[in-house]
Order: sequence, then C-alpha cells, then structure tokens
Amino acid sequence: MATTATETKKTSTNGEEQQSQNLRHQEVGHKSLLQSDELYQYILETSVYPREPESMKELREVTAKHPWNIMTTSADEGQFLNMLIKLVNAKNTMEIGVYTGYSLLATALALPEDGKILAMDVNRENYELGLPIIEKAGVAHKIDFREGPALPVLDELVADEKNHGTYDFIFVDADKDNYINYHKRLIDLVKIGGVIGYDNTLWNGSVVAPPDAPMRKYVRYYRDFVIELNKALAADPRIEICMLPVGDGITICRRIN
Ligand code: SAM
Ligand code: CA
Repeated sequence: MATTATETKKTSTNGEEQQSQNLRHQEVGHKSLLQSDELYQYILETSVYPREPESMKELREVTAKHPWNIMTTSADEGQFLNMLIKLVNAKNTMEIGVYTGYSLLATALALPEDGKILAMDVNRENYELGLPIIEKAGVAHKIDFREGPALPVLDELVADEKNHGTYDFIFVDADKDNYINYHKRLIDLVKIGGVIGYDNTLWNGSVVAPPDAPMRKYVRYYRDFVIELNKALAADPRIEICMLPVGDGITICRRIN
C-alpha cells in the first residue's frame, strides 16, 4: 500500500531518514524530479490516486511486480496525458514505446469511441501482460499494436503522402537514441496544430549533471542523446515547445507549420 503523506512526514522527522532523502536527491537517477518526496506523495494522494480509473490502478499494480517496472509511466504523468489528449480533442494518435501499456491505457480511455492508437513496441510479451486489463476496460478496439522497431513503420507511413498531417497526438517513450530520427518523420505525420510529446527529456536529472557524477550505466549512455534532442527541439522553427517537469520530464511540441 502507498505510504500516506502523514506517515512520510512522521518518518522524515527522524534525522537519519531525512539525511537519506537528501542523499537520494543528490544522486542522479532519483525517480522524482521534485525536491521533496513528501510533495510528490502529496500530488499523488491528493489529485492523482483518488481520480485514477480502476483499470489504470490495476495495470499500475500488475506492472509494479514486473522486473522492469522502472520503465512505466508514473500515475501523475498518466493523468496528465489523459487530460492533454482530451484538451486537444485527439482522435488519431500514435504511441512509440508501450511496455505494459500504462500510458496506452491513459490514452485509450481519453479518446472517443472511434479514436485510434497506432502503438509500437519491440516487445509484445510486456504489452500482453497489460492487455487483459485494457480489454476489460473496453478500449482495446482503439489499439492497433505493431510488434517491432518503430522506425520502419514510420518510414512506411511517411512514404505515403496520404498519412501526412493526419495525427492529432503522438507520444514518444522508447529508445532515446532514436528520438531525433523519430522527430524527422513525426513532424510530417502530425497535423499542424497537433501535438508530439517526447518523454524523459530531463533524463533522471542527468542533463545537468557534471560528467563525473554518479550515474547508472544506461542513464549515462542515453544522456547525450537526450541533451542533443532538447537542443534540436528548441531550435526547430516548425514547432512550439513546452518542457514540463512531470514524471522524468516531458517536452510537448505543437506543430505550427
Ligand atoms: N510508455 C510505456 C508505459 O507507459 O509503460 C513505457 C515505455 S518503456 C519506457 C520503453 C519501451 O520502448 C520498451 O517497452 C521497449 O521495448 C520499447 N522500445 C525500445 N526500442 C524500441 C524501438 N526501436 N521501437 C519500438 N519500441 C521500442
Ligand atoms: Ca517514459
């Protein structure tokens, strides 16, 4: 069960606990980018968990037992995506990087009955872990899952001009070393006024870490790709951008021409 804010507060009055929290916030790779675990817990308990659909809660709990659960979208980010999709009235969407499907379910629940998600992942097994929950939620008919690397699928879509400017919303949450390659293709596929969300653009806070900072191997490996992506997005005149410190950082790009 999740720790309550009061419980967290009680333990944090203990000096040792407080010191360990401070240390965790110094270490690059801490999950939350907020300065305080209590504040994050407050967001979850006040605004997110009480409004989280039962199916998303179930999927979150199933995913928590999976060995790669660090990859999942956090509940607050899931809530944000769900809201964003409704705000932009998205109908035709795409997701690159599904894992067990938490962001996919957040998207599917936000879309109208005839909404569509082209969902891609190299791993079908993890998607199938969440699929029964997605089916039970009554939204599986909106999903077209393609197993395999996303880039060839995008190339195929771009090759047919009929697909240009047809996507209302695209969420990118897969191999960070390909984000620039995805962007080159997605910019043609998203409609003018449509939105692309690039996830993990603050990359565990490592984007500002000194080169000798303690970092997990995968964090260090992808760090430079994320930094390059952030520069490229900021310099791209075809989009307006907004980088939000939600989850591990998400950059919202709105195509303007
Ligand atoms: N959005 C997911 C969620 O809410 O749980 C998390 C996605 S996880 C961070 C990244 C996923 O990208 C993994 O499931 C991985 O298999 C997938 N992936 C890695 N390389 C890929 C590629 N080249 N094409 C498509 N998917 C890829
Ligand atoms: Ca992510």
